[in-house]
Amino acid sequence: ATPTALMVGTGRGAQLGILIRGPEVLESTRRVDTVVLDKTGTVTTGTMRLQDVIPAPGTDAAELLRLAGAVEHASEHPIARAIADGAIERGAELPVPEGFENVAGLGVRGVVDGHAVLVGREKLLAEESLALPDELAAAKRAAEAEGRTAVAVAWGGEARGVLTVADAIKETSAEAVAELERLGLTPVLLTGDNRAVADAVAREVGIGEVYAEVLPEDKVAVVKRLQSEGRTVAMVGDGVNDAAALATADLGLAMGTGTDAAIEASDLTLVRGDLRVAADAIRLSRKTLATIK
Ligand code: ADP
Ligand code: MG
Repeated sequence: ATPTALMVGTGRGAQLGILIRGPEVLESTRRVDTVVLDKTGTVTTGTMRLQDVIPAPGTDAAELLRLAGAVEHASEHPIARAIADGAIERGAELPVPEGFENVAGLGVRGVVDGHAVLVGREKLLAEESLALPDELAAAKRAAEAEGRTAVAVAWGGEARGVLTVADAIKETSAEAVAELERLGLTPVLLTGDNRAVADAVAREVGIGEVYAEVLPEDKVAVVKRLQSEGRTVAMVGDGVNDAAALATADLGLAMGTGTDAAIEASDLTLVRGDLRVAADAIRLSRKTLATIK
C-alpha cells in the first residue's frame, strides 16, 4: 500500500500546482522544521522598477543612467532589468558593453564607450578602492530605510551616482508566512540585499529570523549552519543566485516562475510561484505519510 499512497500524494500535488520530483520526496518533508525563503523573486515579485537616479556632483543624470543601463542590459538579474528598462523608457540608447562580467551577488562590470563601468553593491566598488562620497552614501541609506534597493555606479576611478529600484512584496507572502507558522515551522528570510531592505520586508510579512547581505556562495553556508544546529531545512527560491542553496537544503522548493536552474536543483516546484503552496506541499506530504503509517 505504501507506493500507492505515495502515488496518490503525487497526483494530489499536481492538482495543487506542485510538481514533485519523485514520490520519495514526500518522505523528506516529514522532518522539516525550518523554511528558508529567498527574498527577491520568492517573497517579492522580483519585478523591480527603477525609482531614483541620483548623480554625484558634476555627473550628468542621463549619462549615469545610460552607462549603467548599457552594462545592466547584458545581465538577467531583476535589478539589471529594472535599470536597463528604466534607461530605455527614459530615452537612452544603450551601446553593447565590452568585456561584460557578472560578479555574483555583488553586481556587474563592463566597458561602455571606453569607460570601465561598475554597477552594484558598495563592496564591488571597494574592490577597486572606490567609495561613495558622503552625500551619495546618505541618499543611499535613506532609500534603503524606505525598503528600496540602492546600487552604486562608478567609472573612470570615481563613484558617479546611485540608482534605486523597488520590488513589490507579493500579496500572498504574509499569509504564506502565517500558514507556515501555523504548521509549526520557523520561517527565515535569506537575501543578498542589504540589512535595511531585508528588515523592512521581514517586518512586513512577519518573519523574525533574517540573514542579510549574504553572498550567493554563502547562502549554502547559512543553510548548512542551520542544519548543523539540528534543524531540518526546506528552502524556497527562484534560482537567481540561490540554486546551490536549494540543492543543499533537506528539501528544495523552486518557484515555477524562476529559472531552470532552480527547478533542476529542487525536489518540488511550485508551479504558479505562489508561496502559500509551499505550506500546501508540507501539509500534503504529512497527510500522505500519515495515510501510509
Ligand atoms: P537576493 O538574495 O535578494 O535574491 P541577490 O543575491 O540576487 O539578491 O543580489 C544581492 C545584491 O547584489 C543585490 O541586492 C544588489 O545590491 C547586488 N546585485 C546583484 N546583481 C546585481 C546587478 N546585476 N546590478 C546591480 N546590483 C546587483
Ligand atoms: Mg534571488
